[in-house]
Amino acid sequence: MRRKLLSLLKKFLNMYPYNLLELDTTTPNEPDARILIIYTGGTFGMGVDKQGSLKPIDFSKILHEIPSLKSFNLIIKVLAFIKPVDSSDINPGHWIEMGQIIKHYYNNFDGFVILHGTDTMAYSSSALSFMLENLTKPVIFTGAQLPVTEPRTDAGDNLVTAIEIASKRNKNGKPVVSEVCIYFNHHLIRGNRAQKVESMHFDAFESANYPPLAKAGVEIDYNYQYIKSFGGEGTLGVAGKLDGNVTFLKLFPGISENVVKSMLINTDLKGVVLETFGSGNAPMDRWFLRAVSEAVSNGLFIYNVSQCLGGKVIQGQYETSMALKDAGVISGKDITSEAAITKMMYLFGMEKRMDSIRKKLELSLKGELSE
Ligand code: ASP
Repeated sequence: MRRKLLSLLKKFLNMYPYNLLELDTTTPNEPDARILIIYTGGTFGMGVDKQGSLKPIDFSKILHEIPSLKSFNLIIKVLAFIKPVDSSDINPGHWIEMGQIIKHYYNNFDGFVILHGTDTMAYSSSALSFMLENLTKPVIFTGAQLPVTEPRTDAGDNLVTAIEIASKRNKNGKPVVSEVCIYFNHHLIRGNRAQKVESMHFDAFESANYPPLAKAGVEIDYNYQYIKSFGGEGTLGVAGKLDGNVTFLKLFPGISENVVKSMLINTDLKGVVLETFGSGNAPMDRWFLRAVSEAVSNGLFIYNVSQCLGGKVIQGQYETSMALKDAGVISGKDITSEAAITKMMYLFGMEKRMDSIRKKLELSLKGELSE
């Protein structure tokens, strides 16, 4: 009786609250790879309802819209979020959910494709890049600017190529890409280097301060020298906690003392991404430098990230950034704002020691900054 109860309990604990939907691809005897698509929502999977508004469509109809998926010699399964979301509603809970799904199915699949809205995709891909430890398989985010049901949609191209990249192996049978990336509009970009730069055209993402990892034309040209593997020997780990007590402070000429001070004295705040001018410069006003230096002395981490799309922060190049360095502000070098804020959320969630957090902010963890 006791044994039966124990086995029932074990079964219950192993249950997963998602149904895997198998796409009706040709089920080959020896597939080239097994791919899991995780559908989180976004424009990609929306269709126009009778009232003319965009809303999520049943994912089983997707294959219908992209018949070329059938020509792959792959096993493709889909797991849809129970409630697909517009990516403006994505939060750290969803990132943990994505990480846990990948962990749960890690041994059953060779690659993962995450369908996600474009608006916050660069935040999610940055977050996942930090959260997944010992990753040795591809995790490729993609989405679309037009729903899959629209005649001129980019959805099919993006998904088909993302799947092709996620299933690509080298001669030794190892994945060519084993990083968290975004594939969009013919470019494969490291996830924590991506930024959404365009809301109306198909070229929605750019790779900041790092070359794209691949370009898709007639063939997919991989930029092998820039593709890295951050995986170690151990099993896949997923961070289970992120800390949202962080914020951005974007500087502008004339920023007011009260606004800056009221932000920096918030005792719940653990980290600020300070968006500075040019190569990391800030005003020399006494009140500003004093507020920054007091905040740092009180244990606040301030991470200097440039407002420029290219180049990097060099604290000390100008007098106007030397003062930040002296105040204990940490240089983010050429990191994006998206990667900086999610890196802080990850570190504050997972690390306890202040010196270790400081060191990790200075260094590249997953290729997010050039050292
Ligand atoms: N608002 C949508 C989203 O991010 C836009 C898109 O998917 O392109 O979910």
